[in-house]
Amino acid sequence: MIEVAGLTKLYGEFAALDDVSFSVPQGEILAFLGPNGAGKSTTMKILTGYISPTSGTATIGGLDVTSHSIEVRRRIGYLPETTPLYYDMQVNEFLAFTARLRKIPRDLREGRMGWVAEICDLEPFWKKPIGVLSRGQKQRVGFAAAIMHDPEVLILDEPTAGLDPNQIIDIRALIRSFAQRKTIILSTHILQEVKALATKVVIINEGRTVADSDVPELSTRFGDLEKAFRELTVGASVPVPAGVEDGDSSDG
Ligand code: ADP
Repeated sequence: MIEVAGLTKLYGEFAALDDVSFSVPQGEILAFLGPNGAGKSTTMKILTGYISPTSGTATIGGLDVTSHSIEVRRRIGYLPETTPLYYDMQVNEFLAFTARLRKIPRDLREGRMGWVAEICDLEPFWKKPIGVLSRGQKQRVGFAAAIMHDPEVLILDEPTAGLDPNQIIDIRALIRSFAQRKTIILSTHILQEVKALATKVVIINEGRTVADSDVPELSTRFGDLEKAFRELTVGASVPVPAGVEDGDSSDG
């Protein structure tokens, strides 16, 4: 469903991405890992058509993300790390606005809004201004907006960052329920999340792919996922994420 081949992104002489390749079969959840600055967001921005690669290709459902940008965007839902929400709009108003933007036919809009409200459990704050919601509630609204057009592919950039443990459980359940029919790429710093959700894992470091594997296979090869991440990203010029410090073998 998603094919990335030889993706390179140069900023001047600096390679944010250097020949990155991986694929995600339909119906799988890919965990996309790497230290800060590794190139995760750059890859996601290319996949979602926000920026163009310097060279290499990415296709979604067989369509090139650069030459078929509009068609590709119709097929994907994107939840960026900081969810773009209008804080002075009520949840219902914002989602009605999203439904119009996504060109959901007028007679289907109400049904579709009810569908996202149910999936994301928005009823308790349906008519509240987005600005007063908790971070977890805002994330559910962002998720609802991302799935409004029932996309085949979901791209989620650190969807549980900054959430409390209960909110994390809620968002993971949401992702899991959606995964049954969709293809998902999920970037995260929480290795526990990878084990809880993902079938495949790609690790990038300094713009290069250093692992592309099934989750159990990578864990078995290195002993566990924390060790795999640590060993494959050693030499990174930035600190490793919380939960993988020396001597910390807990699941976070
Ligand atoms: P990650 O999401 O893995 O933390 P990014 O994809 O955001 O990493 O960034 C990868 C590298 O590219 C970083 O070194 C970052 O500073 C650099 N970078 C990202 N965007 C730009 C830009 N517009 N101009 C120059 N360098 C950039």
